Amino acid sequence: MSVRANIDKLRETVPADVKIVAVSKFHSNDEILEAYNDGQRLFGESRVQELTVKQPMLPDDIEWHFVGSLQRNKVKFIAPFVHLIHSLDSERLMLEIEKQAVASNRKISCLLQLHVADEETKSGFLPDECRQFLAEGRWRSCTNIQIAGVMGMATYTDDLEQVRSEFRLIKSLFDEFKSQYFSNDDNFKEISMGMSGDYPIAVEEGATIIRVGTLIFGER
Ligand SMILES: *Cc1c(COP(=O)(O)O)cnc(C)c1O
Repeated sequence: MSVRANIDKLRETVPADVKIVAVSKFHSNDEILEAYNDGQRLFGESRVQELTVKQPMLPDDIEWHFVGSLQRNKVKFIAPFVHLIHSLDSERLMLEIEKQAVASNRKISCLLQLHVADEETKSGFLPDECRQFLAEGRWRSCTNIQIAGVMGMATYTDDLEQVRSEFRLIKSLFDEFKSQYFSNDDNFKEISMGMSGDYPIAVEEGATIIRVGTLIFGER
């Protein structure tokens, strides 16, 4: 199947108001352009080095999403153009994003990455860490950051009930933060969850953004 056919098929199975980020890591600019020529504009990368090589060679109207864990010393390379950072997971990272957003004279949207999976390797705030981060309130003085919602990954498992309950937890944390801190902020609205293997469940549980690589571009 071609990239174009894969995207068309994916779009048919996802409600029109759910945004699809095509995760293009390890795939070539030609493959990205095939998706672009089919109307795809949201692309995701998980490594700064790869993203900064690709971005200048590709059309300007692509919205670049950063979906991997982000090292502070690399924020400066993506700050001038990144559309949404899905992986804000510490105060120190926030302060660096703020600094580089100011330097680029931009406001950068970020999602709070939540660690809900039953796996030690996955990064993100534990629910209580995120509650504490929000309660401490230093994010309020980051005038060049827009906290736009939450992101999370489910455990890589065949147990679909576990996957569903993890997505449900992400959604309930979103609702909690929305009502406690962002009820007057229309820009806090995104729930980024669901990948090739589990996006249908994520959509059922309230995802507003899904991040799909393999199903669009094939195996990496
Ligand atoms: C690679 C990646 C994806 C896409 O994964 P697929 O299983 O290929 O769809 C989504 N989110 C993050 C954070 C990733 O690193």
